[in-house]
Amino acid sequence: MEDVLRIAIQKSGRLSEKSLEIIRNCGIDFTTDSRVLRERATNFPLEFLFVRDDDIPTYVRDGVADIGIVGRNEFDESLCSLDVIKDLGFAKCRLSIAVPNNFDYKDITSLEGKRIATSYPNIMMRILKERGVNAKAVVVSGSVEITPQVGIADCICDIVSTGTTLKMNGLREVEEIYYSSAVMVARPSFINTVSAKTGILTRLLERMDAVEKAKNKKYILFNLPSERLDEAACIIGGMKSPTVTPLMDKAWLSVQSVVSEDRFWSVFEDLKAIGAEGILVMNIEKMTE
Ligand code: ATP
Ligand code: ZN
Repeated sequence: MEDVLRIAIQKSGRLSEKSLEIIRNCGIDFTTDSRVLRERATNFPLEFLFVRDDDIPTYVRDGVADIGIVGRNEFDESLCSLDVIKDLGFAKCRLSIAVPNNFDYKDITSLEGKRIATSYPNIMMRILKERGVNAKAVVVSGSVEITPQVGIADCICDIVSTGTTLKMNGLREVEEIYYSSAVMVARPSFINTVSAKTGILTRLLERMDAVEKAKNKKYILFNLPSERLDEAACIIGGMKSPTVTPLMDKAWLSVQSVVSEDRFWSVFEDLKAIGAEGILVMNIEKMTE
């Protein structure tokens, strides 16, 4: 049987689209039919399992999938022992404590003895314990914000990204206790074992790196009076010396290089100031060093 790497991805939710986009940007093709729960990429030995995000850590732990993309919060809450092989940096959110507007909150010690409603009891209790606070977790799986109003909790600990939902429910965010983003997980040491599957994973990670490296880089090409070359090299700086091509007119050169996006405008202006002309800027799709 052909070796295939299995990746668990959220079927539909905040992680789904971006997870698939990352794979697609690696040049991996597949058709996504929302009714299909298992799908094989057409040009790479990768198989997708589309599941609920809550199930991803256990599927990876039990070997149903080899790797998975999941929020760090779900992974930590699951208490599954897995390796985070890459922080993907999207789906950023935080776990915060929020209290009703009439709650007299001073600092974290105000939570002593309180009932805190949350869908993340493991993470919450671990952090409160680290901070020396004794509180009681009231575990609910959704609509955490209404629990103080209905009297089953004194305050809440929930995922926040903007805070609007909290405000709409008469709650005030008082402590940010935990930060999350989407991560790629695998079984412990999976990445260090030698097998066809880890070979596929290494190829996938290399492709992801190449896409990432290119993301904040621009390719620039311009004509330059020959005698200003040293100054131009100095302005561009960075990786390696620029590529220089002579032009028919000996007084001019054509120069090409890669510049990071955050420095781009200052490089552009400095090059113009030393007489560069016809500056052409291009996006880079993939890049290795
Ligand atoms: P599923 O049906 O797969 O169980 P879900 O409703 O549990 O989905 P989503 O709401 O799609 O999950 O959120 C998935 C992940 O996105 C969260 O676990 C979290 O890591 C991240 N996230 C980012 N911003 C937010 C937010 N404002 N609210 C909830 N989750 C967020
Ligand atoms: Zn979920």
